[in-house]
Amino acid sequence: MASQFIDVAKISIKAGDGGDGAVSFHREKYVAAGGPDGGDGGKGGNVVFLADPNLSTLMDFRYKRKYVAPKGENGGAANCSGKSAQDLVIRVPVGTVIKDQETGLVIADISGQEPVIVAKGGRGGWGNSHFATPTRQIPRFARPGLPGEKFDVQLELKLIADVGLIGFPNVGKSTLISVISAAKPKIANYHFTTLSPVLGVVRIDEEASFVAADIPGLIEGASDGIGLGHAFLRHVERCRMLLHLVDVSGCEGRDPKEDFEKINIELERFSPTMAKNPQIVLGNKCDIATPEQVEDFRKFIEDKGLMFIPISAATRQGLEDIPNIVYNMLKDLPPVRHFEADYVKPEPVIGDRSFTIEKDDESVYVIDAPWLARILDGCNINDYESLQYFQRQLGESGVIDKLVEMGVQEDDTIRIEEYEFDYVF
Ligand code: GDP
Ligand code: MG
Repeated sequence: MASQFIDVAKISIKAGDGGDGAVSFHREKYVAAGGPDGGDGGKGGNVVFLADPNLSTLMDFRYKRKYVAPKGENGGAANCSGKSAQDLVIRVPVGTVIKDQETGLVIADISGQEPVIVAKGGRGGWGNSHFATPTRQIPRFARPGLPGEKFDVQLELKLIADVGLIGFPNVGKSTLISVISAAKPKIANYHFTTLSPVLGVVRIDEEASFVAADIPGLIEGASDGIGLGHAFLRHVERCRMLLHLVDVSGCEGRDPKEDFEKINIELERFSPTMAKNPQIVLGNKCDIATPEQVEDFRKFIEDKGLMFIPISAATRQGLEDIPNIVYNMLKDLPPVRHFEADYVKPEPVIGDRSFTIEKDDESVYVIDAPWLARILDGCNINDYESLQYFQRQLGESGVIDKLVEMGVQEDDTIRIEEYEFDYVF
């Protein structure tokens, strides 16, 4: 197979971390003890998704699964801020929906022309010049940059089409779309000829047109993920209405009524919402069907309250009115579905000052608080004022109260990740 059609991919994305703030002091000849002048770190790059009309498959994501935006530059001396990093732009086919891998919730629908920021770069850390106060004139610490957001996502291509052509393999979907639109799909008397969905623009006149998607063979068991069908049902999810094509001639030895029911059952199982879309039933291959076959099927469909149109895609009989009928029906239907984001990002680390403390040994308290460890990373613990700053964070966040509540004693050991120190009142 020369090229494979891929419409789902799992990747991980990570925005760039912020650059670290700098610890630096102003130095000039003959000027003693200059003030702090450490600059701030630059912002990390975002991970941005952009819809690219030239792409039609998610195949590239099979080969590259990790996407990491660059880190912001660290701050420098003389209040020099680090440069913010460039965004990482990921191009995807129009209509790609990005979901959280774990929950399946929608993070973004990349179907517009605007780039969409999916993972935000981390803010740069403050340089030490921010920490100078009248009582703390020599801050020997700065803040590290915040980490960039990261997500494990699933990309799903969901075509943007008004009308979905559905039906068993070989009923004539590709033939029909090639006749009513400008699309030229492969046609053959062979199941699964159409391995990728084909979009066709159907023109009514200068101003009026709609987009139809030839959805390759839905088959029995498709909604359970058997065969190719399931994957392709995804592509009718945005459609506003369905053209359900049935081979009334039964030339492949199947029963048209059974075909019709089976496809609808699959649809219902895959998505009840989608199954509620209006359907027009096209009875195809009338050129080789008997008038009795056609009338029998017509009655079956019309008894269900559905519109039935007998056609022959091959001889083009009965096709003239279809574009107008479809166009008029579309006028009263809601627009192509856009998937709203329902994924809620977890609380950012910034501002979250939760912690847990466990008493490991008689006199060892282990504090689990990533935010606190990050502050420690950015501190010079040999510096009195840095330590004071750190201790204030312990106090404000309630860590000390909790330790006291747990019965901490003078000289007990406090452990935070790889740091350890004695508790002193
Ligand atoms: P799809 O699998 O639904 O896309 O079906 P195709 O469009 O590839 O058609 C399958 C076979 O049916 C091809 O050999 C077509 O030439 C044939 N076919 C399509 N429409 C008609 C029709 O109206 N009459 C007849 N006799 N054959 C048709
Ligand atoms: Mg086909």
